[in-house]
Amino acid sequence: MNALSITGLRKTYGSAAAVDGIDLEIPQGCVFGLLGPNGAGKSTTFKCVLGLIRASAGRVLFAGAPLEASAFERIAYVPERSVLYDWMSVHEHIAYMQSNFVGFDPARARELLAQLGVGDERKKVRALSKGMRTATAVALAFARRIDLLLLDEPTSGLDPVNQRTVLNLMINEAAQGTTVVFSSHQIGQVERAAERIAVMQRGRIVLEGVVDDLKAGRKIVEGILPSDDFSINGFASDARIGRVERNGRILRAYVTEQPEGVAEQMSALGAQGLRVVDLSLEDIFLDAVSPKAATASIVEGV
Ligand code: ATP
Repeated sequence: MNALSITGLRKTYGSAAAVDGIDLEIPQGCVFGLLGPNGAGKSTTFKCVLGLIRASAGRVLFAGAPLEASAFERIAYVPERSVLYDWMSVHEHIAYMQSNFVGFDPARARELLAQLGVGDERKKVRALSKGMRTATAVALAFARRIDLLLLDEPTSGLDPVNQRTVLNLMINEAAQGTTVVFSSHQIGQVERAAERIAVMQRGRIVLEGVVDDLKAGRKIVEGILPSDDFSINGFASDARIGRVERNGRILRAYVTEQPEGVAEQMSALGAQGLRVVDLSLEDIFLDAVSPKAATASIVEGV
């Protein structure tokens, strides 16, 4: 049974759909990365899943059961914007969490706060930097005993060391069976931590799957064109090429089959310095959210 099961989730504001009918199955113990451009619907999805805003349609199941008040004991959510109380100290937040959540471990919270550099727990939240607030919210969430952790841009505003720490916490948490779902614009981080991803665009899921599977069998053939005004239409009409990007004389072709054959053809057409490279998650993301024609599309000047 999946930790989180989302079917036909939709949220409209007036005539606009912020989330436009998404289906997602997230297995237990997995780190799941939700990617998407600004305004794609990631935060709205988190809020609908948790019932913080009412979905217009759809069904959400947590380990096979609809959301009930008692489930919040086993679910933690760190929203995009800090929900800490400005007028309370870090220490008071620890006490607040302890009195509200049975599985909250104050010693673990202090350990995590120290690890993330929030040393002085007497400090009021209003005296913390933006990054320190995020670090505090994340530390408090990770100090709970939970089954599901939903993190909306948990590394935003954190320095590189703390970003790395939070990613490691996510990976370790999942290794112990907790399901971790997080959104991020830092594709390198998603690539490092997530086993599965979904890419949202305009409220829909445009790509989803296991990161290794999404990368398998897809390559980029890169080369240098003989001149700036060289026509690349010949490449764009090749059925093996999904998309062609051109930046000056540099040509990048996203290839779904026979990359060596494509490289040979490019060479025959005069391209030099050809090499076949693996796709990064960033390439996969850009490919998923970039406009596509029915056949190959040419993106100039990227
Ligand atoms: P970002 O990466 O910028 O945080 P996101 O993927 O989290 O973006 P959402 O915040 O979910 O995107 O927003 C999705 C869409 O819904 C946007 O077009 C946004 O303007 C719209 N939207 C969100 N909340 C509301 C609201 N309360 N009223 C009207 N429109 C809203």
